[in-house]
Amino acid sequence: MTDPSHVVRLCHLYPAEMNIYADRGNIAVLRRRLEWRGLGLVVHEAGIGTSLTPGDHDLYYLGGGQDRDQAIVADDLARTKGPALCSAVEDGAALLAVCGGFQLTARGYVAADGFRMPGIGLLDAETVAGPTRLIGDVLIEATLDGRSGEVAGFENHAGRTVLGPGATPFGRVIAGHGNDGRDGTEGATRLRAIGTYLHGPLLPRNPWVADTLLHWALAHRTGETIVLDPLDDALEAESRQVASGRARGDRTERLIGRTRRARSSR
Ligand code: GLN
Repeated sequence: MTDPSHVVRLCHLYPAEMNIYADRGNIAVLRRRLEWRGLGLVVHEAGIGTSLTPGDHDLYYLGGGQDRDQAIVADDLARTKGPALCSAVEDGAALLAVCGGFQLTARGYVAADGFRMPGIGLLDAETVAGPTRLIGDVLIEATLDGRSGEVAGFENHAGRTVLGPGATPFGRVIAGHGNDGRDGTEGATRLRAIGTYLHGPLLPRNPWVADTLLHWALAHRTGETIVLDPLDDALEAESRQVASGRARGDRTERLIGRTRRARSSR
């Protein structure tokens, strides 16, 4: 029987509505990286109408969604979960919020038609839809817990996000658009919360981000600093390199892509 302190308790917020670009894959990565180390993950799903109790979970996850799905969950998040989620993070729980989820864990999102979706104000950032979508591979230099590294992903958002003084960017854009396509920031962090536009999903290619979240979640679970056993991430590194090459507009990558497409159309 696994020691309960070796099991991370994850709360998946709105799994039915907020799961664009296979964002669920992030949870699969968290589970596998724990299991490879003899640890475990339990997932509770919290949909519309479900309230949260701070202290019940070590890690919260909110994926991305189209404006339509985001509008369905925004009020419910603000009403039934916002205060509990904020106090959970204040008390040391971790959070990963992607794209539409990032916008709603911040101060809110004004869609292209002017409709305003409230946020919960956990992250200090405001988002307003722009006239075009910011789409493509994106590469950033991210910093978490004083450690920096490249993070590669894919972004597709109309929202232009501007950070307030209470937010620290998740990363600096090396290639791609980032928060607003202009200021060079990507995402936002506060305490153990990360908001980001990076899909893909994010964690398979960027295992150091997954391990940071797990490290935080285990610290919340046990009250101790847990050192995670290192894993062989050669495949993940290769996949990140391909994605970062695409984001940088690497000629070799484009040629490889073209040759593959030509082969498959034969
Ligand atoms: N609806 C938001 C936007 O377009 C979020 C999109 C998403 O989650 N991919 O900005």
